[in-house]
Amino acid sequence: PFDVLVVGGGPAGAASAIYAARKGIRTGVVAERFGGQVLDTLSIENFISIPHTEGPKLAAALEQHVREYEVDIINLQRAERLSATGGLVEVGLASGAKLRSKTVILATGARWRQMNVPGEDAYRNKGVAYCPHCDGPLFKGKRVAVIGGGNSGVEAAIDLAGIVNHVTLIEFDSALRADEVLQRKLRTLANVDIITSARTTEVTGDGQKVNGLVYEDRKSGELRTLTLEGIFVQIGLLPNTEWLRDVLELTPRGEIVVDAHGQTSLPGVFAAGDATTVPYKQIVIAVGEGAKASLAAFDHLIRTPSG
Ligand code: FAD
Repeated sequence: PFDVLVVGGGPAGAASAIYAARKGIRTGVVAERFGGQVLDTLSIENFISIPHTEGPKLAAALEQHVREYEVDIINLQRAERLSATGGLVEVGLASGAKLRSKTVILATGARWRQMNVPGEDAYRNKGVAYCPHCDGPLFKGKRVAVIGGGNSGVEAAIDLAGIVNHVTLIEFDSALRADEVLQRKLRTLANVDIITSARTTEVTGDGQKVNGLVYEDRKSGELRTLTLEGIFVQIGLLPNTEWLRDVLELTPRGEIVVDAHGQTSLPGVFAAGDATTVPYKQIVIAVGEGAKASLAAFDHLIRTPSG
């Protein structure tokens, strides 16, 4: 068995693997897609000591750094089951393979939440987008909507306003929830409209591409339509933890509950990064949390009598 098996190959998983391998213990990483969300990011300017980099470049650097050490990287494999038996933790993969380890670090990250309205799936990548940094330039000179008035939605609207012809920001609530400084910035932009108390009910299209959206004015109950070419959905992140629901403690939102050492409710199982309750989902935080969980796993190993 492994001493430390990391599930997830994003910033948190990469940091966990490096910290474990540097202890000279048997370390593995299983990842569906090494690099994680970083792969979908264009420009990164807040990873301390690196003033500017790009997502794919940082993802490659993460992997390269892990490969400096003796780490078994099992890429393009999805973990589907976790169980603890006889002092070992077993991780079952979609392929049917089973990996056993003395400790496991869960670093499965998160993904953008969907609206779940008619048309959203049909027009995904045909006008429906989730990543303004990736897809913003595709809508140069066009009209787009941003769904969600939290920080990510308002940031997206500000970002897109510089690229596209017009942005409509749609918020379900009666007020935006983003930081005041972002809202102030947003309101200075001439090509941005803000619609509050609006529930998006449908994405419409011509069969090929998005041509509009329908929303309900929650004050009057009336349905209104907007004509546009793109819709950026920015309504939150969902942790990739569905497969862990019956195994360890999650919050109602699906975040893995961890203590200050990254310990989960299951002995020998630790967690780090966007999948956990640790606030502020950022690369630099995921990296720090990954290192911490790995050191905690090592602590656990040296305190556990080997059978
Ligand atoms: P992730 O990066 O989500 O990695 C999760 C890993 O787990 C992946 O390898 C995934 O394939 C794997 N995985 C998931 N489920 C399974 C499973 N069942 N079995 C096996 N493997 C699995 N942060 C910043 O600090 N600065 C930025 O500028 C920035 N911009 C961003 C832009 C975009 C478009 C996005 C989407 C995010 C951005 N973030 C940014 C956030 C940052 O990317 C995340 O906080 C960070 O990647 C979280 O790292 P993580 O390792 O916890 O999870």
